[in-house]
Amino acid sequence: MTAYPELEDAKASWRHQPAPECLSGKAILVTGAGDGIGQALAKTAALYGADLILLGRTRAKLEAVFDWIGEHTRTRPVIVPCDLSHLGPSSAESLASQARTEYGRLDGLVHNASLLGAKTPLAHYPMSQWEDVMRVNLSAAAALTQALLPLMLETAATQGRQGSILFTSSSVGRKGRAYWGAYAVSKFAVEGLMQVLADECAAEGALRVNSLNPGATRTAMRRQAYPAENPADVPPPEACLDIYIHLLSDAAEGVTGQAFDARTWPGAP
Ligand code: NDP
Repeated sequence: MTAYPELEDAKASWRHQPAPECLSGKAILVTGAGDGIGQALAKTAALYGADLILLGRTRAKLEAVFDWIGEHTRTRPVIVPCDLSHLGPSSAESLASQARTEYGRLDGLVHNASLLGAKTPLAHYPMSQWEDVMRVNLSAAAALTQALLPLMLETAATQGRQGSILFTSSSVGRKGRAYWGAYAVSKFAVEGLMQVLADECAAEGALRVNSLNPGATRTAMRRQAYPAENPADVPPPEACLDIYIHLLSDAAEGVTGQAFDARTWPGAP
């Protein structure tokens, strides 16, 4: 793993060291896989053995992650350029067919892509942006989940192990904060979506469903949200990935319906 120095540095302070190859044989779809936390997660999950479906808005960014994974791991990623602000039921269905054609299975789904939108008082919030943020952060995640559920359930039945769905939250999706507008509200709704789905899946036990707040992370979104902050004071994306890898691996079997915080997570038992 020396080809990825940022990961090697971050791993020194991880609270949990996942077993090598713990994602081997798993197909995992990550949204927003071209940049920020999503690209770091995709590369790291591939290093732990996963076959990645890289979904994102900008093809060139996805291609860079695709090339890196091809060069540094033994896995075979797939690129799915897609603007989630236009995702409806029929385009979600065609994404699901593509996932079925490429791998014939899906073990993990990480809803990571998000829009920040305006940071402004509600009294002045531009409602066109409100709609965009809710579509990308909430409705697209719901539509994609709905379309991919049959493949994930089939995979779990065939493999005899649970699939994992992860929704990305935020501290402002757990306690409201002034000026965070649609972003905060969408993250509250994502927590609700996680709880509803986790409860629906609980009896059968084929899927675990959790939410995760990565905490302050040095990305484009963080720079947009905190323009006056020195990026050097913020941890890189790789710092929060131990819990992502854990929740996607079989070591997290049975862990469901929980709202995790990457920075306060004590590590796997
Ligand atoms: P970035 O803005 O760095 O990356 C977001 C990714 O989502 C980009 O690859 C972007 O694509 C993609 N994306 C955005 N809109 C769409 C769309 N309409 N369709 C498809 N893809 C889209 O964000 P982060 O990595 O910082 O955030 C990742 C997750 O973590 C988000 O859910 C965020 O809310 C959450 N989070 C982040 C924190 C932080 O401090 N960074 C703190 C708490 C939560 P493109 O590159 O093409 O623009």
